[in-house]
Amino acid sequence: MLNIDLHCHSNISDGILSPAELVMRAHANGVQVLALTDHDEVSGIAAARAKAEALGMKFVPGVEISITWAGATLHIVGLQIDVTNKSLTQGLAEIRNGRLVRGRKIASRLAAAGIPDAYDGAMKFAPTPHFLARKHFARFMVKAGHCKDVEEAFESYLKSGQGAHVAHRWANVTDAINWIHRAGGIAVVAHPGRYRLTDEEFARFLGEFKQLGGAGIEVVSGRHTPEQYEKYAAIARRYGLLASAGSDFHAPDESRIDVGTLPPLPGGVKPVWHDWF
Ligand code: AMP
Ligand code: MN
Ligand code: MN
Ligand code: MN
Repeated sequence: MLNIDLHCHSNISDGILSPAELVMRAHANGVQVLALTDHDEVSGIAAARAKAEALGMKFVPGVEISITWAGATLHIVGLQIDVTNKSLTQGLAEIRNGRLVRGRKIASRLAAAGIPDAYDGAMKFAPTPHFLARKHFARFMVKAGHCKDVEEAFESYLKSGQGAHVAHRWANVTDAINWIHRAGGIAVVAHPGRYRLTDEEFARFLGEFKQLGGAGIEVVSGRHTPEQYEKYAAIARRYGLLASAGSDFHAPDESRIDVGTLPPLPGGVKPVWHDWF
């Protein structure tokens, strides 16, 4: 059995481990093929690749792009990307820009809810002053004693529908897929089981995704239940999409599924890595 994990995060975005530490953890967990897929950011790829090669693992350069589709936030993973491609790096830089303004708004809503100083607090957890994610707010809220864990910070304040959620416009699906393709990569729908879309809306999204040349969908994900593995395997077969597998690991204390500990893909699907080795 190939141990492959094609979705995880380092402290370049909203993970906790450095790219090299993440690769070492994956290696210790028996991973043979690893993709690093930080949110809207590829600056961790070089260090992760160097460490993976030193440990004799296969490495896949990746990214997880935030998009807005029909008012909902969705994530598209790009795999096997050339991280020096200007179209990709400029596009990612543009969508990262909006994070600071959004962060100010999140902080003022948290202040209104009785949680002061969240902007500076969250910034202490951010990898650079340019990348501020909701997890950084959540970690601040835990440390300051407002929530028992990161999950509670999302459930009570930060997720869509809660008081400190701020609607945000990310990339559109056409741009995101084009950036990935110009960088020579393939586009994969991340954790489809997590979206606030009806089955009809999601079917419409997949139609557009396919038409734009999108090629894959995560079937086995650390954010999916075993029932969802089967549901999205069926969807992969129905739409002729390649199946991917990724833990979406962020941090030892936060993630339900550790890097490299996913079950195999269900039968009858074509793995996204079928022609890689
Ligand atoms: P952002 O791009 O800043 O809006 O943050 C999105 C990230 O927040 C996701 O990639 C997850 O890492 C995290 N996230 C979203 N919902 C939850 C949740 N319910 N519990 C924990 N983390 C979450
Ligand atoms: Mn994340
Ligand atoms: Mn995601
Ligand atoms: Mn992710």
